[in-house]
Amino acid sequence: MSIRFDGRVAIVTGAGGGLGRLHALALAARGAAVVVNDLGGTIDGTGGAPIAAHAVAEEIRAAGGKAIASAASVTDFAAVQSMVDAAMREWGRVDILVNNAGILRDKSFAKMELADFRLVMDVHLMGAVHCTKAVWEIMRAQNYGRIVMTTSSSGLFGNFGQANYGAAKMALVGFMQTLSIEGAKNDIRVNCLSPTAATRMTEKLLPESMLRLLEAGAVTPGLLALVGEDAPTRAILCAGAGSFERAHVTLTQGIHVGHDDDTAEQIAARFDEISSRDGETVPESGAAQSTLEIGKAMRAAG
Ligand code: NAD
Repeated sequence: MSIRFDGRVAIVTGAGGGLGRLHALALAARGAAVVVNDLGGTIDGTGGAPIAAHAVAEEIRAAGGKAIASAASVTDFAAVQSMVDAAMREWGRVDILVNNAGILRDKSFAKMELADFRLVMDVHLMGAVHCTKAVWEIMRAQNYGRIVMTTSSSGLFGNFGQANYGAAKMALVGFMQTLSIEGAKNDIRVNCLSPTAATRMTEKLLPESMLRLLEAGAVTPGLLALVGEDAPTRAILCAGAGSFERAHVTLTQGIHVGHDDDTAEQIAARFDEISSRDGETVPESGAAQSTLEIGKAMRAAG
């Protein structure tokens, strides 16, 4: 099975370097016309230079591919809209959106300024919201769309010093969960990619021996599988060092205790039973929780 993107148009944000550049090059090499977006700033989100996006677009064209550059900040909805308009003028459709742009403002929560929290939320979460909003009606009208949110193990599982980043990255999972439901009838498939890779984001955090194994190019095949014709939807795919896993948000079977004066004490006493993973499910939507709870209450009532 060969995953090709001939005739498809892709937007990759934050594609002036790191993972985004490799995603953009791979999509173009497999036939996609690519909008290479990047603000071209520093790792903490300051500054900006269109050179980063232009250089990668040029690299794609030099290899015989199709690309245009955009230096729009994903935090600026008007600029994002202009980027999508440019793609529509050039190629008349947008099939794939890879929300990859990101920054870091790491500090323990005790020392973190609210401004650093807001900016990280703004780039990762609102940046993805802006780009998705700008392509959503296009994808609905086409009855075709593939969207990937770049999440992180720091959001899924936590990491010291990254309360802002983790919150933003987990918010993207919630965004994906509902969009995958709303997009289904128009064949818009929405997934999350959780990478680990040696890039400027991680070069000072990990030892050289680990960075060598975490070659960034090893993540991109995971991205390609999430945006292909036969892509899944609502998956959280973890990718690093050539290994791939899935993360799930699950619901345990839990217990029914009713509502009495000592319910809080019963919950505390039976917390292990509530937590038991026997019969745990991955719900298809939020309705699963109330369905499960009402079912148990009805059975308890006889
Ligand atoms: P990177 O710093 O090389 O790439 C991020 C890119 O986003 C940069 O080129 C930057 O200029 C661009 N960018 C930042 N703010 C922008 C804005 N407002 N508008 C447009 N572009 C903007 O780092 P990377 O490791 O390649 O990160 C790519 C994505 O993967 C990020 O979302 C990051 O959070 C995520 N991620 C990376 C790792 C890892 O191990 N490298 C792990 C988990 C998640």
